[in-house]
Amino acid sequence: MDLFEYQARDLFAKHDVPVLAGEVIDTPEAAREVTERLGGRAVVKAQVKVGGRGKAGGVKLASDPADAVAKAEAILGMDIKGHTVHKVMLAQTADIVDEYYVSFLLDRTNRTFLAMASVEGGVDIEEVAATKPEALAKVAVDAVDGVTEAKAREIVEAAKFPAEIVDQVVAALQKLWDVFVKEDALLVEVNPLVKTGDGRIVALDGKVSLDANAEFRQPDHAALEDKAAADPLEAAAKAKNLNYVKLDGQVGIIGNGAGLVMSTLDVVAYAGEKHSGVKPANFLDIGGGASAEVMANGLEIILGDPDVRSVFVNVFGGITSCDAVANGIVQALELLKSKGEDVNKPLVVRLDGNNAELGRKILTDAAHPLVQQVDTMDGAADKAAELAAAK
Ligand code: GDP
Ligand code: MN
Repeated sequence: MDLFEYQARDLFAKHDVPVLAGEVIDTPEAAREVTERLGGRAVVKAQVKVGGRGKAGGVKLASDPADAVAKAEAILGMDIKGHTVHKVMLAQTADIVDEYYVSFLLDRTNRTFLAMASVEGGVDIEEVAATKPEALAKVAVDAVDGVTEAKAREIVEAAKFPAEIVDQVVAALQKLWDVFVKEDALLVEVNPLVKTGDGRIVALDGKVSLDANAEFRQPDHAALEDKAAADPLEAAAKAKNLNYVKLDGQVGIIGNGAGLVMSTLDVVAYAGEKHSGVKPANFLDIGGGASAEVMANGLEIILGDPDVRSVFVNVFGGITSCDAVANGIVQALELLKSKGEDVNKPLVVRLDGNNAELGRKILTDAAHPLVQQVDTMDGAADKAAELAAAK
């Protein structure tokens, strides 16, 4: 989960990373009072989860409270790379002498964590990385040792920070590592980390991405979710504890096991090429114990997706046997009907593995008018794509 800048800033403050005072507002009028509280001047910053706000005109200095209202008015509602600005942060202005870049991230390729730092921070860091890679220091961080003072000094030295600020940057890096570890982040980036006129080091912009897999031990993180931006189907699936991801196609997918569902997406996309280019509408893994209830929950979400024109249920019976899944499908359709749901999209079911014969017989005997069976995965994908294209 990516955070807004103001949320990253709050986490920085919580872990004692030096930041400037700031407040978030969503109406221009509110800017007056906040700016007065901040000392009469403010920087007005668009809160969108995309980089390059400065260059897009989403970061503006306001010289007095009335100016802050005008700047907030100009920025609220602005479109920045497809993201509408619904909130702005007003922050204390900084007297910037120099801009630096620091970040921590998970380096999957090298199976370690990585620190990156540069004394050429600011809005052009991507260009620095592309054209002057030697100006962006990269230092591996061991997961067990973490960023000790010695490691922080190694990072600062590799990036050639000026001597007079080394101690402050070392301290900031250790605090930022606290954010990374204690908040279960996958990315903590500060650009710019600035040196101010009075020689202080301050994190002026923050980008934090939290690891959703750690939600179980981070009860505070649920509150950081941007509910307004969440896909309604994904939100409904999440409430039902389903592993669901909305995609932009027309063939609803239900399978058991992440690997099988991923390959189902591939075969459906491939089959779709022959059928007007239809594509998978979602990822949904109903997991091992596909009970009627889970199947019903999954079908309810998928049938409720207005983009879905056909559904492909692809199950390989392992620990869960196919007869249990078949009964689950039959009961799920009854359950949805009894709830008054209008089940009107064709279902293609492919059952294989443990007790496949029995499972197929159950579906054949039930003879539900919308359900048809195909015995192979490729064949079933082709049928589901054909049905979606025909609708
Ligand atoms: P980004 O463009 O989305 O990365 O937004 P930033 O928050 O990094 O702001 C972009 C640039 O605006 C920074 O690199 C600074 O040069 C400038 N900036 C941001 N806040 C202040 C501030 O308080 N005072 C001054 N003078 N400049 C600022
Ligand atoms: Mn920035």
